[in-house]
Amino acid sequence: MKDIIEKIEIIKGDITKIKVDAIVNAANRSLLGGGGVDGAIHRAAGRELLKECETLHGCDTGDAKITKGYNLPCKYVIHTVGPIYKDGNSNEDKLLYSCYKKSLEILIKNNLRTIAFPAISTGIYGYPKEEAANIACDAVIDMLKNYGDKIDQVWFVCFGDIDYEIYKRLLKIKLDID
Ligand code: ADP
Repeated sequence: MKDIIEKIEIIKGDITKIKVDAIVNAANRSLLGGGGVDGAIHRAAGRELLKECETLHGCDTGDAKITKGYNLPCKYVIHTVGPIYKDGNSNEDKLLYSCYKKSLEILIKNNLRTIAFPAISTGIYGYPKEEAANIACDAVIDMLKNYGDKIDQVWFVCFGDIDYEIYKRLLKIKLDID
């Protein structure tokens, strides 16, 4: 567990400012830009990002695709499509877990080692924050258990105090930190 604790960082801030190998975008299925974190990433990256996204022909919910980072401080952007929250019984949990898992698989496949995640699906897509953070933590911990030698650092980037407190509390419990 010690290895895993050291590899996870929780911070408050704007994901477009973070200098890691890859940041994750909570995109929509078109991959052609949207509101929230998606809009912020496209604005900061510039038009070239949209041009590359146009060549990808969209992305399924729960899946992920990679592009370069252009004007962003990160090298790459991994675009994943979170589920729209309906009633909690429409496979939302598996799809959200898959977003984190697939993003980390793409990171590894591209020999990249550091990644920053926003709280996928918890904005416009309406996923309850606590439930979403629980799934995000489980997926990242599972991947670090299985592929820890290939991943150096995972950042959870919280856009506000509420998310920050939730992630801190959940990780403390899950990783048994004093
Ligand atoms: P979704 O459509 O997947 O719900 P949103 O972009 O609406 O995506 O929201 C996902 C999360 O990203 C929310 O918690 C929102 O507060 C957060 N967010 C919005 N802008 C940023 C940003 N610049 N950096 C980090 N997180 C952000």
